[in-house]
Amino acid sequence: MLAALPASGVGVYCTTCGEPGVEREEGRGDERFRCRACGASAPRAFQFDGRARYWMESGELLHESAGAIVRRDGRTLLFLRSRFPLFWSIPAGHVEEGADPEAEMRREVFEETGLVVTSATRLFAGERVVLDDPCRRGADRHLWNVYEAEATGTPRLSDESRVVGWFDDGEVRELSREGRLIRPVAAIFARLRPGRPGRRGGPTPRGTRAPRGR
Ligand SMILES: [Zn+2]
Ligand SMILES: [Zn+2]
Repeated sequence: MLAALPASGVGVYCTTCGEPGVEREEGRGDERFRCRACGASAPRAFQFDGRARYWMESGELLHESAGAIVRRDGRTLLFLRSRFPLFWSIPAGHVEEGADPEAEMRREVFEETGLVVTSATRLFAGERVVLDDPCRRGADRHLWNVYEAEATGTPRLSDESRVVGWFDDGEVRELSREGRLIRPVAAIFARLRPGRPGRRGGPTPRGTRAPRGR
């Protein structure tokens, strides 16, 4: 619980008791937050860095996210996260205060995959897409800005990914069915159905397939 937002906009607070004074402990590829006030040790904390956009809504802390469904030759770019939760995701990240969501999306695509977005279309325009999406900085839900994008370059790994590759629509559906997509990404694909991914219809282009990333 978080009783109130910090006045300064900066600080780390315990998710159990809401008090400041939380120490970050780095484990092997893992992190914990230990509270000096109540002694709780948790995998996350309310972290206010003064940059990420946040607000309270019905007693809940919300963040804003921007992400892209990058499409090429009828397939979608996904990467396997190297950090918890170890599921497949699309390039996405927090929107910082005062930043343009589309610019943030382009930055995340480049940082997480090395691709340069050449065109982007806002999806769910006019809808308020708030998704269950617990993050390390303590929010349980995020307001998502989702784009469908085209991008140039060859995907590369980052320190946030183990595997990256292009997946056809059937493969995306299979990952979703198997529960191997992170929760908000599965929800985004579910919102795009029926007919999505592959909303444009028509045959999937063949002949120039890059190696699949798995
Ligand atoms: Zn505490
Ligand atoms: Zn967040």
